[in-house]
Amino acid sequence: MGLHVLKFGGTSVGSLKRMEHVADILIERAKKHQVVAVLSAMSGETDALLQSARHFTHQPSERELDVLLCTGEQKSVALMSICLQSRLQKAVSFLGSQIPIRTDIDHTRARIEEISDTKIRKALEGGSIVLIPGFQGVSDDGDLTTLGRGGSDTSAVAVAAALKADLCEIFTDIEGVYTTDPNVEPLAKKLSKITYDEMLELASLGAKVLQTRSVEFAKKYNMPIHVRSTFKLVPGTWVVEKVDPMEALVVSGITYTKNEAKVVVESMPDRIGLAAELFSLLGEAGVVVDVIVQNVSKDGTTDISFTVPRDDLSKAMEVVESHRNSLKQERCKGDPHISKVSVIGNGMRSHSGVAAKMFKVLADAGISIQMISTSEIKISCVIDEQKSKEAVKVLHKAFELDKIEPKEVNDFA
Ligand code: ADP
Ligand code: ASP
Ligand code: MG
Repeated sequence: MGLHVLKFGGTSVGSLKRMEHVADILIERAKKHQVVAVLSAMSGETDALLQSARHFTHQPSERELDVLLCTGEQKSVALMSICLQSRLQKAVSFLGSQIPIRTDIDHTRARIEEISDTKIRKALEGGSIVLIPGFQGVSDDGDLTTLGRGGSDTSAVAVAAALKADLCEIFTDIEGVYTTDPNVEPLAKKLSKITYDEMLELASLGAKVLQTRSVEFAKKYNMPIHVRSTFKLVPGTWVVEKVDPMEALVVSGITYTKNEAKVVVESMPDRIGLAAELFSLLGEAGVVVDVIVQNVSKDGTTDISFTVPRDDLSKAMEVVESHRNSLKQERCKGDPHISKVSVIGNGMRSHSGVAAKMFKVLADAGISIQMISTSEIKISCVIDEQKSKEAVKVLHKAFELDKIEPKEVNDFA
């Protein structure tokens, strides 16, 4: 008998009828294994709760938001437990604060620090399916916390790691991890296997199928993840440490981001320490900067462009404007309509020419590249947001991702 952690996303538990279907999956699995189920809030619930809070103010207290948002997942686990019990399946739900799932105190984006396994193990040994709400934890002071949007994935992988589970399965509304978002490119192909490193890049560059931190946990604890559909019980995608080099793809995925903005600080007198000063100021204000480009002009001035999360655009502009005395810029311009399109693949470590091909494909499609950033296994281009879906499509075709033949991996539970 193994121990399996199964996570179900918002769509999977989106109605009482769907919850009954999830209950079928859990009962079936519990015939052979101990089962922990991590559940999201019903689809739309977290957004609706946020909207209610914003009815009163645009800046609700983050502490109170966490108290509010935790109720979405609480409702899911209680309902599921009642559903299972009504079918004479032993089941028990524990909230994040009861387990406890201890986090830091960074409200709305907390990080998991420790998960106690005592209560969960006792309930499993007593024959219960254990239901755990995703996305929530508790700080040392007993304050409720949440883990950031999509955080139930992280809860599931962290619980699986803490329990040393044999398997962590992420059940969602799609059959696995695809070469790109199938809702944007219907020709996207399901990948049978992908490495943690590739998945980290895909997740952090826009593929929302897994929260980035869940993949960091999986990599750290070497926990295999199986991403699969709740509605069609066929093999999905395994996220693992290594993929056989024979199966590795030069490019395995294309992503685009939705919520980024660009700041251009123009014509600052060029001097040593200027970039250090600018980015220290932004750091002190809590603005996380991503891609940076500096152009040095001939007349001794310099322009620095950088990208930030869209929600932080006005804060970033304020920081720059309020230090005009020392930065001495001529202008500071903000553009909220940009997107970062990325090409990702482990094979890039040993293959050249991917960047050149990406730039040519974008140029041939008349898409102007504003900024470029690279790592060992990815190339990202900042472009006009309006062109992002078109860019994904032309790149997907040019790298022949629509021609991949998925190999079914059958060693799944
Ligand atoms: P859940 O509610 O189950 O957590 P999410 O909506 O968070 O599900 O994530 C699943 C969605 O991720 C898919 O419906 C799909 O639109 C999107 N997605 C984006 N990129 C990818 C990708 N490369 N592969 C699979 N899904 C992707
Ligand atoms: N309910 C939370 C959200 O909508 C967490 C999750 O579903 O993973 O972001
Ligand atoms: Mg999700």
